[in-house]
Amino acid sequence: MSSNGKEDGLRIGVFVCDCGLNIAGTVDTADVTEFAQTLDDVVCAVRNKYTCADPGQNEIKHAIKEHRLNRVVVASCTPLQHEPTFRACVAEAGLNPYLMEMANLREHCSWVHPNDWTGATAKAKDLVASAVARARFLQPQEELTVPVTQRALVIGGGIAGMEAALELGAQGHQVTLVEREASIGGIMAQLDKTYPTMDCSI
Ligand code: SF4
Repeated sequence: MSSNGKEDGLRIGVFVCDCGLNIAGTVDTADVTEFAQTLDDVVCAVRNKYTCADPGQNEIKHAIKEHRLNRVVVASCTPLQHEPTFRACVAEAGLNPYLMEMANLREHCSWVHPNDWTGATAKAKDLVASAVARARFLQPQEELTVPVTQRALVIGGGIAGMEAALELGAQGHQVTLVEREASIGGIMAQLDKTYPTMDCSI
């Protein structure tokens, strides 16, 4: 480990996704891939047409073994969509799944700069450089399973609290609802009538 907290012997692989034309129609992904290759600690940079598809994932697994990668950066879409996919992918190649970082070149770049090829490409390079910088500091993580008590405490007996308590109860959990006032109902209970039925609120 260096004095700045960065691990020694880093070998980072960067995989830049076209997503068909979703990214490659707006971002010069070939240029971004070439740029990634110049970054410190990056030992291979690969451009894929669809990184999440089997051929793309196989390329990642192959590169991890061939280049002895100890960090992977996937520059593609939102982690919301494919972080689990790529974590599983690197794990299958023997790498701890938490040594994978993503750069979002689609939702954060190509989709929001559709008419700016030069600007979007420059931003994509910044996003990749940032993800590589983050990847340098990733540490392996172990997942734990811990038992939890299947009971809930809901604080506040207004509409939101009552609804939450009812939903949790319907899911089979034991619920304790706490309200500081003498009755539940919150603001709703203070209303004379409710729109559109004009019923009494209580
Ligand atoms: S990894 Fe994401 S950006 Fe790439 S092809 Fe799949 S969905 Fe599209």
